Amino acid sequence: MIDTLLSYVAPHHCCGCGKTGSLLCHDCKYNITYETKNVCLACGRPTFSQGVCNTCKAPYSQAWCVGDRKDVLQRLVGLYKFERTKSAYRDLAGLLDDILPQLPENTVIVPIPTIPAHIRERGYDHTLLLAKRLATLRGLSVARVLARSNNTMQRHATAASRSRQAKFAFKVAGEIKQNVNYLVIDDVMTTGATIRYATKALKEAGADRVWVAVLARQTLD
Ligand SMILES: [Zn+2]
Ligand SMILES: [Zn+2]
Repeated sequence: MIDTLLSYVAPHHCCGCGKTGSLLCHDCKYNITYETKNVCLACGRPTFSQGVCNTCKAPYSQAWCVGDRKDVLQRLVGLYKFERTKSAYRDLAGLLDDILPQLPENTVIVPIPTIPAHIRERGYDHTLLLAKRLATLRGLSVARVLARSNNTMQRHATAASRSRQAKFAFKVAGEIKQNVNYLVIDDVMTTGATIRYATKALKEAGADRVWVAVLARQTLD
C-alpha cells in the first residue's frame, strides 16, 4: 500500500536505463538473465554439473546464480540491501524465477536467516521477502528451518574471518523432513561460506537434498 502510494509520488526509475515506471524494466531484466553461464558458484570455474565443481566439494548438489555482482544487478541488490527500497524484492525474486528451472513439487524454500540488527536497519527481512515471493511465483512453500546461532556481522570482514564467522552461524530450528528438496536462498555469495555451512546444518539434521539459489556472486579482491 505504502509502496503503491510512493510510486505515484516518486515513480521508480529503472536502475539499468533510467526509464520511468519500474526499478527494472523488461529490457534490462532480459539483459541480466538471457545468458546463463555454467560456472561453479563457489569458485567461478566452468563446470558441467549445475553450479557445482568437483574441487570445491560443495555439500549442495545444484546451485544457481542470477549473475555477477556488477552493473544493473549490483545496483538493484544495493537498493534492496542498503537503501531500504523494499519493493525491489519483486524484481529480484522475478530474476530468480527466470533463471531457475522447473522445480520438483516437493521443493521447500529456505531463506538464509538475516541478522536481527540488519532487519531493524532495513525495516524488513530481505531474504525472507525474497523467499516468500519466489514461493508465490512457483506455488511452493517457505520453511524457516534455519536460525542463526550467533549474530556476528559480516560486512568488512576478511575472507578468513568470514569463513570462521559462518562456521558456527547456523542451527536447524524446525523439523527436517525426508523426501523434501530444500532450496536455500541468499542474496550475495562472497566466499560461499554462508551457503556451505547453512547446507551442512540442514544435511546434518537429516535433509536428503539441498539446492542453492543466490542473486549475485561476488569475488573478494
Ligand atoms: Zn531499463
Ligand atoms: Zn568450484
